[in-house]
Amino acid sequence: MLGKMEATKWQGKYDVVVVGGGPAGMGAALGARDSGAERILVVDREAEAGGILLQCIHSGFGLHYFKEELTGPEYAERFLKRVLDSNVDVFSNAYVSGVATDSSGIKQVRVMNEKMGVQAIETRSVVLAMGCRERTRGSIRIPGTRPSGIYTAGLAQKFVNMHGYLPGKRIVILGSGDIGLIMARRLALEGCEVKGVFEILPYSNGLTRNIVQCLDDFGIPLHLSTTVARIHGRDRIEKVTVAPVGPGLQPDLSRSWDIDCDTLLLSIGLIPENELSQGLGLALDPVTSGPVVSSTLETSMPGLFACGNVLHVHDLVDFVTQEALLAGRFAGEWAQGVRRPRDNIKLTAGQNVRYCVPQTLAPGREHTIYMRCKEPMKPCVLKVGDLMEKKLRFVVPAEMITLKIKPDLLERFRGDSLEINILPAVGGGSSEEE
Ligand SMILES: Cc1cc2nc3c(=O)[nH]c(=O)nc-3n(C[C@H](O)[C@H](O)[C@H](O)COP(=O)(O)OP(=O)(O)OC[C@H]3O[C@@H](n4cnc5c(N)ncnc54)[C@H](O)[C@@H]3O)c2cc1C
Repeated sequence: MLGKMEATKWQGKYDVVVVGGGPAGMGAALGARDSGAERILVVDREAEAGGILLQCIHSGFGLHYFKEELTGPEYAERFLKRVLDSNVDVFSNAYVSGVATDSSGIKQVRVMNEKMGVQAIETRSVVLAMGCRERTRGSIRIPGTRPSGIYTAGLAQKFVNMHGYLPGKRIVILGSGDIGLIMARRLALEGCEVKGVFEILPYSNGLTRNIVQCLDDFGIPLHLSTTVARIHGRDRIEKVTVAPVGPGLQPDLSRSWDIDCDTLLLSIGLIPENELSQGLGLALDPVTSGPVVSSTLETSMPGLFACGNVLHVHDLVDFVTQEALLAGRFAGEWAQGVRRPRDNIKLTAGQNVRYCVPQTLAPGREHTIYMRCKEPMKPCVLKVGDLMEKKLRFVVPAEMITLKIKPDLLERFRGDSLEINILPAVGGGSSEEE
């Protein structure tokens, strides 16, 4: 890959420093360059930029942005080439451990690198683009022994796709998130026996296209409303007890059964990598676990912006890129002295809306609102206060909903908060597809 650079090429001062060199970080760097910012640096702790895309060797990336189906590394490489062609500095093997700001607003980004030790890099603005991480066994407390052979799905993906190791041969997958579905297919293609995917909720947490292409096409069963109730095995996992769940999502052990396996993959959710955000004392959204941001994707610290999975977990990389280009543009403008009035309209999540990002809006600009529903619903109507409504064929929690707000719509609005609701469509039928 192209993303390696000598750490000794760090310069002292930048207009924009981007923390994280995944698709969000690369998009932010390009957005900053488009805004006219001159000195831009992307810092990534890994040896190569590209982020999670480097281990996603399946196709399915770029359908919205490039109108073609790319693999993860192909998508990453296109952006990395653009980033390097734009004279953006990329420093890999460099971990950002903190950001400090002085009274004039200048920021010091603390970077650790094997060759350079700890360095403080001065910058006018910062974009956080650190991605997210997977939930582990500890976060759902599965009863039983603690043998080896239990992996998060993304870690197993890294072993198989980047290092050439199979995690095991007889696989059970807990959770129907996209990584688990993709790994079900990947391991089936490698000749493993994938015994099934078990999902505690009555609906899948993955994209519909992944259910079809990764499970149905390979005859892998998806058991909804069912969970792993116990793990067995001393040194290596030997079997799991699975059980349907009753009220309160409690396993009904009277209807349980055992499955022999040597591997359990967990695909039970992702959380923004937000230690840095917490350390900075940023206001965090209790639902997304990412920073609260304004319509310019600026966090509660002036001049510090956020985008991609560190802000809220995305399912499509194309939306990450869109969001990141915008964050980078505003960070670049900030570095050049542009200051906008604070947003004056608060967005709140109403019926069947889990969250919306950004959390505030301003009139006079176009906005894209990203949101997720709480429960599947079809057909339905998405309502933004009394200002606009959009008919949707269906909504499911696994698929992010995006909504464009035209600049003139908010010019007419006189209130200070807008509630977004997703309501059942009256009469159903002729609805627009999301
Ligand atoms: C298994 C899997 C399959 C997917 N499949 C698809 C698909 O088929 N189609 C699709 O469109 N999308 C898919 N996605 C979603 C998409 O890949 C992600 O949404 C996207 O990669 C997120 O980009 P990001 O830049 O926010 O995060 P990441 O790609 O995770 O990048 C974050 C970067 O930040 C760096 N970093 C973190 N902390 C620090 C620090 N303190 N200092 C320095 N660097 C740091 C990390 O090393 C990493 O490189 C998939 C995601 C996964 C996990």
